[in-house]
Amino acid sequence: MTMLSKKVDFIATANENISIDTTGRTIVTNNINNNLSKIGKELNKSFQLVIMPTEKCNFRCTYCYEDFVAGRMEPETITAIKKLLKQRVIDLETLKISWFGGEPLLAKNIVLEISEYAKNLAFQYSQVVYLGDMTTNGYLLDYETADNLANVGVRRYQISLDGPREIHNKSRLRADRKGTFDRIWANLLAIRNSSLPVSILLRIHFSADTFQLLDPLIEDLKKEFLPDPRFLFLFKSIGRWGGANDNDINVLSLKKKEQAIQLLQTKLFGENLDSSQNLSKEPDNFVCYASRSNSLVIRSNGDVAKCTVALYDDRNKVATLQPDGTIELIPGRLAPWLRGMETLDFDTLGCPLVKLPS
Ligand code: SF4
Repeated sequence: MTMLSKKVDFIATANENISIDTTGRTIVTNNINNNLSKIGKELNKSFQLVIMPTEKCNFRCTYCYEDFVAGRMEPETITAIKKLLKQRVIDLETLKISWFGGEPLLAKNIVLEISEYAKNLAFQYSQVVYLGDMTTNGYLLDYETADNLANVGVRRYQISLDGPREIHNKSRLRADRKGTFDRIWANLLAIRNSSLPVSILLRIHFSADTFQLLDPLIEDLKKEFLPDPRFLFLFKSIGRWGGANDNDINVLSLKKKEQAIQLLQTKLFGENLDSSQNLSKEPDNFVCYASRSNSLVIRSNGDVAKCTVALYDDRNKVATLQPDGTIELIPGRLAPWLRGMETLDFDTLGCPLVKLPS
């Protein structure tokens, strides 16, 4: 984000100079660096809700950090989200709803209901551009589902593959331990064969054990999906993300990770590394959604969080969504996540969870 591009020296503490009101609007209480009010005003033009309609999952990926305890979102929370959107949409320029889980497509009817509501709001308030996206494991994303979702504005997806069939099926398993590759691949081909107005980011995972075994997948990606500009590609190394099997994950050093990504990109794109389909290079000034005051995660139980990784860290429960659609902050919990907006330090903005003050 260009407005955050000027780095100033500032002690990295959480001073509550910036917060949100009950509708999620950024409020600056102390304009400490002359930029904060400007940043707050800019951020109030857009609003992102990351919604987890269920935290159950039909997969049990070996590196997953989720506990799958919380189930489907209750009707009361769905109604509260709609009320929040209705209050917030009035002066927005952009409304982004990002679906996350567990597996969001296990609660497809909730996704469709809220998305349709958001689409209608954007129709009513014509100044708003509404965008819908989803992080899904892809197993339930058949053509009909993708079509129905596209009709309510969900048009961007992120889907992970862990390698060619034999490799993928060792780590991205169904809850009953069966493999998932063939069905995901068939869904991807069906979308490719359609004219649906969607874009799909294929996130290709690798680890120290698998990065030299991805060639058959890369060849298939080249043949089936690279010619279609709706498909984008990101190589990502599997990490110890807090799951039960963390100790079994063979993590690459930062240098080896970078070398592996360079090699894998070259295998897929050849000399065309600057392709707009190549998303493996993170921009230098990457700002995580959790650093921004205008981005909130609504969990299936109505808790409001900042980050989709630290789900079981109390510091990440910053508020609760009330039945009337208002956000009730838990004192002291939001400010640490927003400290990067005050300091403009790129490491903090890139991941506020690192060194998060208690
Ligand atoms: S699909 Fe996602 S939420 Fe489900 S088990 Fe795999 S990593 Fe976890």
